[in-house]
Amino acid sequence: MEGARSMHVHLKPIDVAIARTEGNSQRLRLVEVCPQCRRALQTLHDWTLLADHPDPMVAAEIEMGHRRLDRLLSLPLEQALRLIRTDEEFHRWGLTRLTILAALHAALHDKDLDRAFKLVTLSLQLSAVLDPDLYGAGDCLRIGFQAIEACVRILATSRGGSELDRVIEASFLQIYTLLDSLFSPRTGPPSR
Ligand SMILES: [Zn+2]
Repeated sequence: MEGARSMHVHLKPIDVAIARTEGNSQRLRLVEVCPQCRRALQTLHDWTLLADHPDPMVAAEIEMGHRRLDRLLSLPLEQALRLIRTDEEFHRWGLTRLTILAALHAALHDKDLDRAFKLVTLSLQLSAVLDPDLYGAGDCLRIGFQAIEACVRILATSRGGSELDRVIEASFLQIYTLLDSLFSPRTGPPSR
């Protein structure tokens, strides 16, 4: 192991995630012998908490999620929503979680409701396009409700009546329809 310690390419968090998924004990041993590789493991742990998903490969999505969220925020809302619907690159759990957390932060910490509305609208659309086969139907339902819960909290801090309220309400209906179709494919949207 001396050789591996002194001469190896340090692991990145994604490498640790892959090694864990594959059960690659040789690579995982690096996190025991090399402080720099151990930092990658720590970062992956932090991302796992942030991602709120048990799969280390999903936690690794947090890194790219920041860049994807910046891209969405650089666009007008309608354009960003369309991009989410049409580009599978954005159908990511990590991105969805980051967007929900950013929405809550904007509303509750920064008191920036315009930004919070934009973020939470994006998060509702994001949670509606996640692939249940990839992330698990139960987890997709869970993150959908996290987005809805964030939306309700943000609406509660607003004075209401904005055009964005209408967009958010439409997203609510959309996500309810999706969740309903996931779990009872033969029924229509839930009655209210
Ligand atoms: Zn190393």
